[in-house]
Amino acid sequence: MKTDLDNFFPPYIRRWATPFVLTIVWLVAINLIWLIPTVKDLRHSASVLALEIADRVKHDISLTIADVTDELNSAARQIGIEPERSGFILRDLMKRSDLFVSVAYVDRSGKEIERIDKFRLITKDDLLDHSKSSYFYLALSGSTGFSKIFLSSFLEPRIYIAVPEYNIRDPEHIIVAEVNLRNFIKLVSSLGREQGHIYVVDKKGFQFLHPDIGEALKRVNFLSRSIVEKVIVDGNIADGLSSEDSYVNESGEKVFAVGIPITEMGWGVFVEQPRGYALSGEKQVISFALITVILGAIIFLIIVKGNIRFSQLNDRLKILLGESEETAKILIRRDLELTKANEGLMGLDIVKSQFVSIAAHQLRTPLTGIKWSLHSLLEGDAGSLNENQKEMTVDATQATERLVKLINDLLDTSRLEEGRFEFKLTKQDMMPLIEMVVREHETITKEKKIDVSLIWPKIKLPLVNIDADKLKIALDNILDNAIKYTYKNGKINIKVAVYKKRIVVSIEDSGIGIPKEQQPRVFSKFFRGRNAQLMQTSGTGLGLSMSKEIIEKHEGSMGFFSEEGKGSMFYFTLPLEDMG
Ligand code: ADP
Repeated sequence: MKTDLDNFFPPYIRRWATPFVLTIVWLVAINLIWLIPTVKDLRHSASVLALEIADRVKHDISLTIADVTDELNSAARQIGIEPERSGFILRDLMKRSDLFVSVAYVDRSGKEIERIDKFRLITKDDLLDHSKSSYFYLALSGSTGFSKIFLSSFLEPRIYIAVPEYNIRDPEHIIVAEVNLRNFIKLVSSLGREQGHIYVVDKKGFQFLHPDIGEALKRVNFLSRSIVEKVIVDGNIADGLSSEDSYVNESGEKVFAVGIPITEMGWGVFVEQPRGYALSGEKQVISFALITVILGAIIFLIIVKGNIRFSQLNDRLKILLGESEETAKILIRRDLELTKANEGLMGLDIVKSQFVSIAAHQLRTPLTGIKWSLHSLLEGDAGSLNENQKEMTVDATQATERLVKLINDLLDTSRLEEGRFEFKLTKQDMMPLIEMVVREHETITKEKKIDVSLIWPKIKLPLVNIDADKLKIALDNILDNAIKYTYKNGKINIKVAVYKKRIVVSIEDSGIGIPKEQQPRVFSKFFRGRNAQLMQTSGTGLGLSMSKEIIEKHEGSMGFFSEEGKGSMFYFTLPLEDMG
């Protein structure tokens, strides 16, 4: 079933969403496999380290108390043996340890009989009464009694320790010593500030040792902390690994803590560390695992992006291929259309040629009739003509001759185009043909007083393979033009030469020449030069194109040189087969 969400996301996101989620799950699972035991190990190590610190402190405290108590017991034993030397023994005791602030010899009612103080002389008025203290009664019952810790006027933690005289069961006297515990402050100050701190609470849960004396003075009760209860009330070690061991301290910081009981005193030593410090390794490995998951996700996305780009390119390629296929089809269609159109045009060309030849044929017959009628009119066959009539008849005759020439040219051209002009080449001498053509134009050259020279090669002219009738048409045209486009008193040189297995015929005139820019079109059908038209000469523009075609049918070539106002030279060459 399709949901709205399916339409909301583009298809490539839908395609890659499941593999992406699976990859992330797989990465998380792989990381958890190593992460869980590593974190456990790290916590364990943190716990061991903190317990070691707490144990050292506990050990030092116990040792100090035990040392002091031993000294006291040994003095109490001596006094029991020699009560008369009690003063001397107490003074000797004071010398044994720095920690003794004062020692007192107390009777069974709790009153001090004698006291020796480290700093001052004790008078009778200074003697104290210990009868209201629990440590006194403990000593009276034969045990060692410890008072609660108190701070002296020097802000040093102190304690009263009471031991019975020699006769332990029913002692006559008690020895009470005031002991300075200032060494303990040093013990709990062994950690750097950022490493956390050590504190000690007494059997009622009051904190009496802290590196900061101000904190110790507050005598805060920490029994509400479950770790403190575990250590003080239950007498158990708290390793910090169970969740109830950690707590938020008075600065509002969540801490990692361990605790060890000092059983003989009922106290507890605690090491409290900021979690960030104690479990910094844990933070690092978790960050590392997170980075691997994120990196994995990024790599996945990069691969997917590449894939998406690739498939987009592929899609574009497909579209382009489709487009070029379409273009190819269009081109093929156009080609077919063009071929058809071409065929149509070729058909039209044939129709046109046929039309021209039919029209020309049809025109030539009546024109010939008109031409001869005009001739007989001029001859006076229909009676003599007056001057005016003669002039008009001459004009009509010339116009008719021009028309006949045009029709003949048209007919020859269309015959050539349709291939109906059959060429029958035979080996002939060209000399008589050229002479004939020159002779036929003598009337007009004489009329225009044009000097025509015919120059032959010195060697005998070889025979040439020609169709004389067709070649005559070309020669006629070329000479005709030379005469037509040369002013009166001009000069025409007709030169025949043999050069490199070819016969070369050139007809050079001193006529009007051909404008340079029009020269490339000279052999085009119906071309007439600008200056030729200005000269008011008659012409069809078909002569040269026809001549060139005829020469080429003889496997020859035709060309020209011309300069406007100076003259032209048209030439053609024909191949000579065997010159022996
Ligand atoms: P046309 O019947 O006009 O002479 P052609 O095909 O024989 O037609 O010649 C084409 C054009 O070439 C002419 O109209 C003329 O402008 C130019 N031409 C040909 N021969 C010469 C020449 N000997 N001197 C100058 N112009 C020439």
